Amino acid sequence: MKVVDLHCDVLEKLARFEDANFRNDSRIYSNFERLKAGNVKIQVFAIFIHPDIPKEQKFQEALRQIEAFHKYVLKEPEMVHIKDWKQIDELEEGQIGAVLSLEGCDAIDDDLEKLKIILDAGVKIVGLTWNYENKVGYGTSEDSTKGIKPFGKKVIELLNERDIIIDVAHLNERGFYELLPLAKKVIASHCNSRTLCDHPRNLTDEQVKMLVEKGGRIHVVFYPPFIEKEKKTTTIEKLVEHIKYLANLVGVEHIGFGSDFDGMDPLSVSNLSNASEFPNIIERLRQEFTDDEVKLFSEEGFMNYIRKLNATT
Ligand SMILES: [Zn+2]
Repeated sequence: MKVVDLHCDVLEKLARFEDANFRNDSRIYSNFERLKAGNVKIQVFAIFIHPDIPKEQKFQEALRQIEAFHKYVLKEPEMVHIKDWKQIDELEEGQIGAVLSLEGCDAIDDDLEKLKIILDAGVKIVGLTWNYENKVGYGTSEDSTKGIKPFGKKVIELLNERDIIIDVAHLNERGFYELLPLAKKVIASHCNSRTLCDHPRNLTDEQVKMLVEKGGRIHVVFYPPFIEKEKKTTTIEKLVEHIKYLANLVGVEHIGFGSDFDGMDPLSVSNLSNASEFPNIIERLRQEFTDDEVKLFSEEGFMNYIRKLNATT
C-alpha cells in the first residue's frame, strides 16, 4: 500500500543545516530512505517561514528553501518534482512525486509579484496564513472572528487563476468561512477533528462537512497535541479514532495523511515517529476498514481528487 502525505517540514531543516543530507540524515524524519521504507508515493514539502525570521528576510528564506528543494531533494534520481498534477499518474514504480507547498503567505508581505515568483517555482498548494496575522488574514492563534483582508482577496484571485489548491490548515475560523465561496480549490493539509481534540488548529464538524461539500479534503496530522489535548506523545490508537470519526462524518475517500514530520520535533506518536513507520498505521487501519477503504485513505482518494481537478481545468 502506497502513501500520499500532504505535509512535512523537511525544507526548513535542509535550508538551516550546514551539513544537510536528504538521503539518510537521521535528524530528518522524512528523509529519502525513510520515505522509501514507508512506501511514500507523493510527498508534499512545505516552505515554512519561522515566525522569528525578521520580516525583511522572509522572502529570501522562502527562496532558500526552494533552492534546498532542488539542491538536496531533487538530487535523488527517484524524486520527481510535480509541477503539473498530471504528472502524478505518470510516476513509475520506485519514483516519489515531490510537491511544493507554501505554508502561509508571510513571505510575500503585501507583494503579489513575490507570490508569482514563488508560484513560478512550481508551488501547487498555498496556505493563506500560518498561526499569526499577516497581510492576507489571520491564523488560528489570532482572533477567530477577524476575516480575510482586502489584499487577501487579491491573493485568492491569483491562486484561483493559477489553479492552485488553497490550504486552510492554519487559517482562523472566519477566514475559513470567507475563503470557501471565493476559492476554486480548497484542502486542509494537516488538521484533525476538533470534536475529538479541542484545538483551534483542528476543524469543527461543520467545517469538515463544508470543506468536503466544496470538493475538498482533510488530511490528518500526527502532532500529538492535535490528537489528544495538551499531550506531548500519543498512540496510533488515538490517531485512528480521528480517522474513524472523520470517515463516519464525510467518508474515508475524502480524508488522508498530512503527517507534519520535521515540523514537530521532539514530539511524536509512538511507532509513528518518522516516514518509515507509515506501514504501522496502515496495518492498524486494516483492522478497522476494508483494504479498498485503507487504500482510498492512504493513496487513492487523493489521486482521484487530483484526477477530478485535472478533468475540470
Ligand atoms: Zn503547519
